[in-house]
Parts: sequence; structure tokens; C-alpha cells
Amino acid sequence: MKILLVEDELRLAEALTQILQKQGYQVDMTGDGVEAQDYAETGVYDVIILDRMLPHKEGVEILKHIRKNGIMTPVIFLTAKDALPDRIEGLDAGADDYLVKPFSKDELLARVRALGRRSVNMLPKDRILVASLELDIKNCEASCLGTKIKLTATETQLLEFFMRNKGFVLGKEQIFDRVWGFEKEVEIACVELYVFYLRKKIDFSSCGVSLDTIRGVGYCLKEVINDT
Ligand code: CA
Repeated sequence: MKILLVEDELRLAEALTQILQKQGYQVDMTGDGVEAQDYAETGVYDVIILDRMLPHKEGVEILKHIRKNGIMTPVIFLTAKDALPDRIEGLDAGADDYLVKPFSKDELLARVRALGRRSVNMLPKDRILVASLELDIKNCEASCLGTKIKLTATETQLLEFFMRNKGFVLGKEQIFDRVWGFEKEVEIACVELYVFYLRKKIDFSSCGVSLDTIRGVGYCLKEVINDT
């Protein structure tokens, strides 16, 4: 599960990042309001933890903006004040839950789990099946008609993203953001490279699946329907 953490108190942000990573979540962190909005708008997160008071753009404004643009990622709003109007303002702006600082780490984790279950990008299973292609996410292994294929962690994440979104065209940037996050040293060309690796390792058509290139856009994994 991928989480966007928006918090400008650096020590708190680092502590929360560690706590979340320990649970096996992937975390992207920023303390800047404008940057947070850019990240949130990619739509690649399962849960967003959003602080209220931020430099350059406030949490409420970010929330209103992304909801207006159709981003429905579950949001936990962090607020330092316990005043009722602040909580109502957050919920009215489109937050799914809120936490009043200071909060316990267990409470935060419980709420992240609860919202994660609601997220469309997230399924509780460790295995996904599309036609005869099965992906074992924990063990980084694909299997097709009894043949097991070992994958790298990155290949697994990429294939998982394709399979969870079967039938949908995924843009290269969207794929890049989801799988590689905001690692600045990696270039977007790696999307093509890793699709090449996947196609080399997996005989998609024999599993009843196609991984199509959509020219100028990205890729789409589909179940192949035989008319015969
Ligand atoms: Ca703050």
C-alpha cells in the first residue's frame, strides 16, 4: 500500500514515515503544500495523511482542490486544534477521517488500515489472478499454467499495478509514479524497460492475457476473450 504523508514538522514527519514503513507501507513524504497537491493529484496513493497547517498551501485548500479534480483517495486530516469548526471544515472539504495532534501511533495505524481497506487501489489479497496468470506478490513470483516465473521486486510491483487495473489504460507517468515513486535518479524510460523485461519473462498470450502498448499513452493489461 502506498501512502502520501504531508507534514511540515520534520521530526514528526520522519517518525511517522518510519512507523508506516515498519508496517510495510511505501511512503512518500513532503512538508510543502504545493508539492503535496502535485503528488496527491497523481492519484497513485491508497491513503493520504494530510496536515492542516502547511507552508504555501493549507491542507483544506489542497483537499478541496483534489476532490474537485476527481481524486477520491481516502484522506486522514491532521489537526493541531481540537476546535469543532476545524474538524467540520476538514470533513466538509472531503476528508474521510481526522486525527487531533498529539495522537498515538496505534490510533494512526488503525485509521490507516481502516481507510486502506476502502481504497480502490488496494485489495487485501497477496495473490491476484487474471485469466490463467497468477501473481504471488509476497514471493515475487508469477505463475502461468503450472510454470513458475521468478520476478524482481520492481517487476512484481509493475505487474501488480497492471493486474489490479486490468482493462484500464495506464499512462507511463502514472505507472512511473506508482512503481518508482519520486526517486529523482530514475528516469521515466525505465517503464518501457521493465515492460520489456516482463514480456520477456512471461508468455502473456499463453495465460489468456495481453499486455498492449497504447501508442503515445502507456499500457493496458487485458484478459483475452476467445470467441471460439
Ligand atoms: Ca503543520
